[in-house]
Amino acid sequence: MTVLGVDVGGTYTKWAALDGDTVTASGTVPTPPGPDETVKLAASLAPHAEAIGIGLPGHVDRDTGTALFVPNPPGDWDGYPVAARLRELAGVPVSVVNDARAFARAELELGAARGLADVLFAVLGTGVGGAVALRGAVLAGPRDNLGELGHLTVSPGGSACCCGNRGCLETFAAGPGIVRAFSPGTVAAGTVAAGTVAEVAEAARAGDGRAVEAFERAGWALGVALGDAAALLGVGSVVVGGGVSGALDLMRSALHAELARRRPLIGDLAVLPAALGPLAGAIGAALFGRRSG
Ligand SMILES: [Zn+2]
Repeated sequence: MTVLGVDVGGTYTKWAALDGDTVTASGTVPTPPGPDETVKLAASLAPHAEAIGIGLPGHVDRDTGTALFVPNPPGDWDGYPVAARLRELAGVPVSVVNDARAFARAELELGAARGLADVLFAVLGTGVGGAVALRGAVLAGPRDNLGELGHLTVSPGGSACCCGNRGCLETFAAGPGIVRAFSPGTVAAGTVAAGTVAEVAEAARAGDGRAVEAFERAGWALGVALGDAAALLGVGSVVVGGGVSGALDLMRSALHAELARRRPLIGDLAVLPAALGPLAGAIGAALFGRRSG
């Protein structure tokens, strides 16, 4: 059975056709200008798919397949009946899921967390997504919103976050936060291309002190938030993925120093790099699609 998984991002949309545990086709395209166009695109990607799973960066109603709060991709998604529209066009069952939960499902079943039961997931990109698996199941929450690690408060009174809070993990460890720490005042939140973070990483590897500090600050913040989440949930591992996680090595010493401080309570939290690469979200969306089909 071939299932199509589609991972809709703010800028790019990734897709994968999954047959069993094997990706038989995949691709990356610019995210279309709105939900109607995105649904049309999804219906055209894998004509032989028998089910479709679609991951969205925001809150969704899984029961009805409706987008609830999806602010980043172009167009007005909120209230859009994604599953119903896509089902009309493609004629197959459609599941709608949050993208971080999709990422977690893929890494849990096929990637870095395979065989583990109690795991945190952090996705470092333009924002910071998160998910929680307990007893081998990825938890969802009422709006598919359970596990938003990115909006744990790391520094009360810190920089303003898009969520209304200040000093969230996301303001430190997402791409824009890292670039801002490297070159303050030049970058507005949410406007940074992933390549720019790669440039800061390159500078850090070449020994630039400010670049090194920007990643140490991100690693420290990640350690604070993961330490809190581990204390709350009692998990033993965390999988870190997303475009910025290519620079995880630059965050590791600050991250581990922060976690080590809390070892008496949380034990040795294993920090595992994600294994499935940029297609993890699309693969996870396909896994959700398969179960409904
Ligand atoms: Zn926030």
